[in-house]
Amino acid sequence: MPCFPGGRPGARSFALSRERLIMNDHRRLGRELGIFDTDPLIGSGLPYWLPAGAAVRKAVEDYVHELERRGGYLHVNSPVLGKRELYERSGHWAHYADDMFPPMRVGGEEFVLRPSLCPHHALIYRSRGRGRRELPLRIAELGGMYRSELSGVLGGLTRVRAIQLNDGHVFCAPEQAAAEVSAALDLIEAAHAQLGISAARHRLSLRGDGAKFVDDPGMWERSEAVLRAVLKERGRDFDEERGEGAFYGPKIDIQIADPAGREATLSTVQVDYFQPERFDLRYAGGDRPVMVHRSVVGGIERLVAHLVEVHGGAFPAWMAPVQAVVLPVSDAELPAAEDVLRRCLAAGLRAELAPADRGSLGARIRAHRLVPYQLVVGPREAAGSGASVRLRDGRQAGDVPVERLAAEARPLF
Ligand SMILES: [Zn+2]
Repeated sequence: MPCFPGGRPGARSFALSRERLIMNDHRRLGRELGIFDTDPLIGSGLPYWLPAGAAVRKAVEDYVHELERRGGYLHVNSPVLGKRELYERSGHWAHYADDMFPPMRVGGEEFVLRPSLCPHHALIYRSRGRGRRELPLRIAELGGMYRSELSGVLGGLTRVRAIQLNDGHVFCAPEQAAAEVSAALDLIEAAHAQLGISAARHRLSLRGDGAKFVDDPGMWERSEAVLRAVLKERGRDFDEERGEGAFYGPKIDIQIADPAGREATLSTVQVDYFQPERFDLRYAGGDRPVMVHRSVVGGIERLVAHLVEVHGGAFPAWMAPVQAVVLPVSDAELPAAEDVLRRCLAAGLRAELAPADRGSLGARIRAHRLVPYQLVVGPREAAGSGASVRLRDGRQAGDVPVERLAAEARPLF
């Protein structure tokens, strides 16, 4: 445990809160838990994921994918770059170019790393004729997007240049937009409950002045009215803030706060009349759909950073990097412990073995104090081909079959 110099009696509460801040900072914990790291040779703002981080991330991604599937979404995959013309058409080039990487010339063409997934999804919608009964068409993708942030502002997983975004677009008739915004908020609330996240506040983000926002007051009025009505109908308190909207439309932003109280947007729902017009999207031959942009959990980097801080590394069992550790009491129980490990892995658990040559049983339990299930194999358990389950809070659960542990360590829908 780190100790903080200068801890006068009067400064106790300050010292404690400062300790909590530093203890739960995802940059410190993330490296300690083997979540991520960076290398100057790869570049700042380009973290890589270590095995524990990759495991947490996969668990969360699988959960969100399944939540979306149950919510009627169809998943697609699209490339992380596109021709410059695509972003001229979408409006990004005129309103968002400062945040984009410069174009790459290949042959006679220019390509850019995408600053968002929306244009690709608009083209997927447009790839075939759409009838009225196909709407709402809900498309989702976990895909890469890129931001040319300056080196000075980059750090950890929260300010990065390459983002894996949980994105989705609902193409619907105008009269369906409010219900789709509300359904997206339902998904967001379900995900937050499952992930153990509490929103700091809801923000209705509106246009600001200047060239960063599409100049069409009537369009902004219509889209703001939809979002405001849904928030009011759901009885949500929210703050309206000018200048925080997307360039094409207003957003409901669900804000989270880190241990230092710094706010960031995690989840968002947006109503957009602009891009359907730019891409000339139609249904039933002539009518124009509305595009509801939504992200249930935002960028995976920021989400995992927040989860590390919220849970202090003691992740819920379903997303823990290692869900079960098998602990033979002595070398004599090693073969039985290896058999328990094999059964854990076959049952779908992320599990590992900590053999007796790594220290006393107590020391190995302490070393694995964040692992939800600690499976102790002593002579009695070895004789019965089982294990005695100890939970990380110290409770003894007895001889629980590994299949039951695997069933418990799944997210709820
Ligand atoms: Zn979008």
